Amino acid sequence: IMHMLKFWESHALDVHPSEGGRYPIFIGKNIVPDAAIMLEGLRLAPTYEFLICTDTTIAKEQNTKLSELRGQAGRCPIFKFQAGEGHKTLHNLNQLYSFMLHRGYTRKSCLLQFSGGVVGDMAGFGAATYQRGIPFVQFPTTLLSMVDSSVGGKVAVNHAEGKNMIGAFYQPKAVVCDISVLNTLPPTEYLAGLAEIVKYGVIYDEEFFTYLENNVEKIKAHDFDVLKHMIFRSCQIKAEVVGIDEKEAGLRAILNYGHTFGHAIEKLTHYELYSHGIAVSLGMRVAARAAVLLGKLSKEDEQRQNKLLDDLGFPKTYNTDVEAAWAAMAVDKKAEKGTRVYILPTKIGKVEKVCNIDKGIIADAWKAIQA
Ligand code: NAD
Ligand code: MG
Repeated sequence: IMHMLKFWESHALDVHPSEGGRYPIFIGKNIVPDAAIMLEGLRLAPTYEFLICTDTTIAKEQNTKLSELRGQAGRCPIFKFQAGEGHKTLHNLNQLYSFMLHRGYTRKSCLLQFSGGVVGDMAGFGAATYQRGIPFVQFPTTLLSMVDSSVGGKVAVNHAEGKNMIGAFYQPKAVVCDISVLNTLPPTEYLAGLAEIVKYGVIYDEEFFTYLENNVEKIKAHDFDVLKHMIFRSCQIKAEVVGIDEKEAGLRAILNYGHTFGHAIEKLTHYELYSHGIAVSLGMRVAARAAVLLGKLSKEDEQRQNKLLDDLGFPKTYNTDVEAAWAAMAVDKKAEKGTRVYILPTKIGKVEKVCNIDKGIIADAWKAIQA
């Protein structure tokens, strides 16, 4: 019982989705070795039969931690997807369904996802659909999946016609952020997570933004306490925004800050040159400039945002073909019919939704990242 209390004390955050049950997010150092206690506490062990999903890269890089998790879940099987966004398909998910059916997994099964956002989304959709839905627990292994994809209940696979086109809203039973797993994360993947973290500061919380400014060196050094706070506050902000607006009617759209421009960059560079996070960081610079040009944001605040991005090591330039970018943005799936929607900052910590900005202003805004 003492042991169980210990795990629950590290309990950081309770999420209350408007649909689906509430669930805890645990954030700590080296907490995977205590997972059995948590699975019991959630009444998943010993009743449920477990299966771990991961990808081929994580299985190599985090072999020890993965074995620990397996030990905690009754030495259950491990299913490995090929690593990478290109493998986030219904075809690959079908192999998980087959694996589970062949091994006789029933509705009393529970998926444990030890992975980044790609497998998290894909296996989450698997959990949502296997025999009409079985419980799942997220063990995110990237900074991005800790602060973004594990919260909010969106699960999906890609289709040839577009990213995340086949999916569902489905909540996990718990999210376990074991910060120790980040020790093998490549630096660009770390930056990708940081982009979303800076985004939360700009759209929602000036105090948090200031905290990031004051801790740049510690952030770069993967300082545990700073990571813990960043992950905690990011999950809290995302849960709050999503909780108010589960299915994207209004407020949830603010999470797209930097993404409209970022998606255009990703598209124009064929999803190869920049990771999503880096494209988003560039997109935030363009959005801030658009806001300045419209007289909605002060130049000082634009510079403040950009300085933090610079200090964290984000690239500053991408020479945009403005016409191509305009066309690329038009087909953004998140754009409402007929209107072009932009999320623009009005100060650090606050954004607003602006529709149908003049094309000339958008063209000028791209100059913010011109070399
Ligand atoms: P990812 O899962 O592909 O992980 C990035 C890379 O890092 C992969 O190659 C992976 O094998 C490797 N990796 C993961 N953990 C590691 C570790 N600890 N050490 C070493 N290598 C490790 O990508 P991601 O950035 O975590 O997630 C991106 C996905 O998340 C996209 O598919 C996106 O659509 C999705 N997403 C979903 C939501 C949502 O609300 N559901 C939100 C944002 C993003
Ligand atoms: Mg994003």
